[in-house]
Amino acid sequence: MSKRRRTDEPTAEENPVEPPPPTRSEEFWLYDGNIVLQAGNVQFKVHKGFLARHSSIFETILSMPHTDDEPTVEECPVLKVHDEPEDIKNMLTAIYDKDHDTLSPLPFRVVASLVRLGKKYEMDSILRMGIARLKKEFPVNLFPWNFDRKLQAGASRIEGINTPAALVTLIELALECDILWVLPSAYYRCCMDMEATLFGRGEGAASFTTPLSQGVPKLCYRAHQRLLEYQGKLAEAMSAELIENSKCTSKFAEGRDDSVPDPGRCASGLWALKPNVRLTDMTPHRRSDLLKEELCNPCIGRIVRMSQKAMEEQWKNLPSFFDLPTWEELKREYDHFN
Ligand SMILES: [Zn+2]
Repeated sequence: MSKRRRTDEPTAEENPVEPPPPTRSEEFWLYDGNIVLQAGNVQFKVHKGFLARHSSIFETILSMPHTDDEPTVEECPVLKVHDEPEDIKNMLTAIYDKDHDTLSPLPFRVVASLVRLGKKYEMDSILRMGIARLKKEFPVNLFPWNFDRKLQAGASRIEGINTPAALVTLIELALECDILWVLPSAYYRCCMDMEATLFGRGEGAASFTTPLSQGVPKLCYRAHQRLLEYQGKLAEAMSAELIENSKCTSKFAEGRDDSVPDPGRCASGLWALKPNVRLTDMTPHRRSDLLKEELCNPCIGRIVRMSQKAMEEQWKNLPSFFDLPTWEELKREYDHFN
């Protein structure tokens, strides 16, 4: 033991293994409560009937007769639960105060509590509250990903989800709670900032501590390599198709007959846009960018259609890059929460 402990902490010095006495939750110590939930070292005095109303699991546990040798606080039986105090607080806030039933963004920590405990204690309304947020944030179709400008502009309904640490925590939660449809989008978002995912740059990065969370950057790195290769091939195919375009009206090449179109000019303009980079964020090629590269109109129309098709194909194959079942299988679980 360190001798540098401050002298105003004598109990810790004498009994280093003894846990400190439980503390009472500031938010949930209800004067007429009849059950004390203890999570970690924090106690919550709440109502049996209210817990049972929201959870069949609590209903079963709480219907068991109380024996005299079990601990009590203020004459209420103490039920120890193996959850984080923060999770219990967030769950109680949801059922008592309805504070989380809102359209405003919720912190990621709260959403994680609703999903984890909603699943564990079979609290359907609580689980749905969390799932609804995840559905908005992690679409199973390309369309909302692609065109939800609010999502693109960072106007998320889950505060703080955009750090690799939060995404990795979410991936762990999704695996733990068997919410696999979240995973392709979540992994892909990790891949979009591979450097941060690998080297833990940015907020909360130090939390990659469990063997599972360490596995996520590895899986993403491998998928990222394969995605780049895949996108390179898509871009090459687009370029080849453009050169074949008989409707090309580009006439920019120097020293050439003005009346002969030069689709090669349009194809190199497309490469100048780094098509694989654009496909990485799943945004289709924009008309305005193509105009800036002085591509001809028929080629622009063709590129916009081709890039949209390429992204649809990539989206369809996305789960396979992360060793996941097909979208059809993943969507079955997703539809269950409608
Ligand atoms: Zn052209």
